Amino acid sequence: MDKSYDVCVIGAGVTGSAVARELTKYNLSVCVLEKEEDVCSGTSKANSGIAHAGFDPVPGSRMAELNVRGAELIRSLHKELDFPYRQNGALVLCFAEEDKPSLQALYERGVRNGVKELKILSGEEARALEPALSDQVVAALYAPTSGIVCPFGMTIAFAENAADNGADFYFLSPVKNVKKEKDGYAVRTPDHTFRVRAVVNAAGLYADRIHAMVSSEPLTVTPRRGEYILMDREVGDTVNATIFQLPGKQGKGVLVTPTVHGNLMVGPSADDIGDKEDTETTYAGMAGIREKARLSVPGVPLNRMITSFSGLRAHGTTGDFVLGQPADAPGFFNVAAIESPGLTSAPAIGEWTAREIAGYTGASENRNFNGSRKGIPHVAEMAPAERAALIASRPDYGRIVCRCENVSEGEIRDAIRRTLGARSLDGVKRRVRQGMGRCQAGFCTPGAIAILAEELGIPEEQVTKNRPGSELLVREDEI
Ligand SMILES: Cc1cc2nc3c(=O)[nH]c(=O)nc-3n(C[C@H](O)[C@H](O)[C@H](O)COP(=O)(O)OP(=O)(O)OC[C@H]3O[C@@H](n4cnc5c(N)ncnc54)[C@H](O)[C@@H]3O)c2cc1C
Repeated sequence: MDKSYDVCVIGAGVTGSAVARELTKYNLSVCVLEKEEDVCSGTSKANSGIAHAGFDPVPGSRMAELNVRGAELIRSLHKELDFPYRQNGALVLCFAEEDKPSLQALYERGVRNGVKELKILSGEEARALEPALSDQVVAALYAPTSGIVCPFGMTIAFAENAADNGADFYFLSPVKNVKKEKDGYAVRTPDHTFRVRAVVNAAGLYADRIHAMVSSEPLTVTPRRGEYILMDREVGDTVNATIFQLPGKQGKGVLVTPTVHGNLMVGPSADDIGDKEDTETTYAGMAGIREKARLSVPGVPLNRMITSFSGLRAHGTTGDFVLGQPADAPGFFNVAAIESPGLTSAPAIGEWTAREIAGYTGASENRNFNGSRKGIPHVAEMAPAERAALIASRPDYGRIVCRCENVSEGEIRDAIRRTLGARSLDGVKRRVRQGMGRCQAGFCTPGAIAILAEELGIPEEQVTKNRPGSELLVREDEI
């Protein structure tokens, strides 16, 4: 079936969702096509969750400009869109006297990029801030403007707010072909052909394949895997700031950081791999992370690990984000090679891309745009009186389903019922953290399946973990 829109965004990760939200600030009809069953199903779901201050990218690059602007936007957007964020600061550790000039160069780079409040600390000053740091630290770069953010929370907030402002999302809609037509493009999925004036290619690891459908300019995206170890909340206060290592004689280094939800995390590794779907974790990856993390924090409590995971960076060849129209494909806007700091930069990438598209299409401002959104209330974080009032009006908020993260039945039901609501266990997990705690969904999965089945009006054996084919239960008479 044919459908018409002004703009089609391919990919509902953090960048596609941020672009879609910014596009709804203009009088443009917008559709978002996503091959998976939910938003935030690609790289945006597995990363460090750092809102980088911006001292790392090369001055003058798009990455530098959009990182600093993105970090600034997140500091206000998290309140407007109600997603978890905390400005916890970051330290980049230097372990050898001979590496001090590199630390100074990083400081100067940050200053040129416009990062505020940067400071070089001595080893003693760094340890005064973070007592768990190693005695081997001789100096550190301190960036108080660095923060930690919930990558799911931010992506879902952008997407929900885009949908509330009129963007249409199509899930399980893999783009198979994009073809130039007289007045725009025809974008084909198995169910529809979308006729549009402009296309945004925010397909993450697959952006090179989408680009090649319309342009002969070279664009390669290589999956670069990063593995992580996540530890229990009980040890989440081992450090307060995000602890990076200065690239030096021990290699690129790994980070030790609290997450915005109070866990402790170490990683990532960095390995170029051939397979765009290979998110396995490996013995070698885990061993490397452990060893490097102990250099920064010798007592890092790795025995409190609750899970491991990996994410795939969409690594490009230019060292910078690939944004805008290729010369041979006007109206086709790349948002490609968005590796770190892509999460931080996403709001700024959205702002920049939407402005370019408004210019290209001649769209006017949408005066009805409503930029605020309220997240799902979390009973465990409420003051007792507020909690009692909520439970009085919604008794399902008083029944806890996930005991590790204290997630109530009401939260799970609301995760399913709201705009772009969850359709799978992973969708519920990313919205309300059911199954994210110490038992890693060992105890609460049956409860969550029952609620999903009831809310979606399907039998329990049709409830999936994520994409079709990932059902967890089978009927006894079918075994
Ligand atoms: C290990 C690691 C650590 C990182 N740490 C940080 C960090 O701390 N801070 C930071 O700022 N950044 C970090 N990043 C980078 C950040 O995670 C990414 O830049 C960002 O998530 C990219 O978002 P995206 O929307 O471009 O891609 P994705 O999230 O991958 O979204 C692309 C979407 O397109 C969909 N898609 C693909 N092909 C098609 C198709 N044919 N049709 C329809 N849909 C399609 C995919 O299913 C996917 O949902 C890290 C990345 C990694 C891997």
